[in-house]
Amino acid sequence: MEENNIVYDGHIHMSINKPLDAKKFMSDSARAGIGGGLVLSQPPIGLPDARGIDIPAEKRMGIVRDFCEQCGKNFFPCFWIDPVEKGAVEQVKLAKEMGMRALKVICSCHAPADGLPVYREAVKYDLPILFHSGSCWDGEVSGKYNRPSEFECMLDAPGSRFALAHVGWPWTDECVALFGKLQHGGKSYGKAVDMYIDDSPGTPDVYRRQVFRNFAFIGYDLTDKLIWGADVGVSDYNWEWAKYMLDFDREMFADLNEEFKNFNGYLAVSSFKDGKRPDLNLLYKNSIHKNLLRFLGEI
Ligand SMILES: [Zn+2]
Repeated sequence: MEENNIVYDGHIHMSINKPLDAKKFMSDSARAGIGGGLVLSQPPIGLPDARGIDIPAEKRMGIVRDFCEQCGKNFFPCFWIDPVEKGAVEQVKLAKEMGMRALKVICSCHAPADGLPVYREAVKYDLPILFHSGSCWDGEVSGKYNRPSEFECMLDAPGSRFALAHVGWPWTDECVALFGKLQHGGKSYGKAVDMYIDDSPGTPDVYRRQVFRNFAFIGYDLTDKLIWGADVGVSDYNWEWAKYMLDFDREMFADLNEEFKNFNGYLAVSSFKDGKRPDLNLLYKNSIHKNLLRFLGEI
């Protein structure tokens, strides 16, 4: 299948007041081998990133949709919603009608649970949500909102599909534990949610290796749940950085796979598909090729 060879970047930003040139973006991202991805709209006024510039929701949706259309069928628009803004619940339906494929949320000024009415509405319209998680360079006192454990609240939005970005750095252990709890525990209590991890940096190299080693050696299978992302912008796509990260991850997972094969300690293998240990090289491949499509409900 042709699509399987496309490398998707699951975390690409669109900024306010920066030029939008689809052709330039396409050629910059192609230099890193990127052929598709998820493009996040400009931020809502309630977020520090908006720098006081208020672009109405519908207009922001239109801008990101048009940009993605110019980039071809492998780039998908995502609407950055402020779930505590007045009218946010209604924006979810509009987002679906406007062709948005996902929602993006950053909790700079509110707890994740404050947005539950929006997350439940997103379930209704089958829109997955990409959350920022971990320390946020937003100039706000926001660490308390962005710890992975705060996203346990998704149990109150059963049926939701969501991803936590940046592996929750520096609270990476908390992110691993949350994945185990929600991915395996939620359904036992009739509250199934589908949690993904977006590994876009923010997670420095040294933590990156440790956190993915922990996932594997604890026995949590990310094969279908890890989405690769560079967290760079459409206006100044840093392809050298993206390429560095792709190479880094490929080598890291290949290395971890060797170590994993020879590990004889206890593994919760019963939680693996067919009782087999995951292949971490396949995990890497899926993280760059397939898992974004899975997250978006394309496959
Ligand atoms: Zn980001």
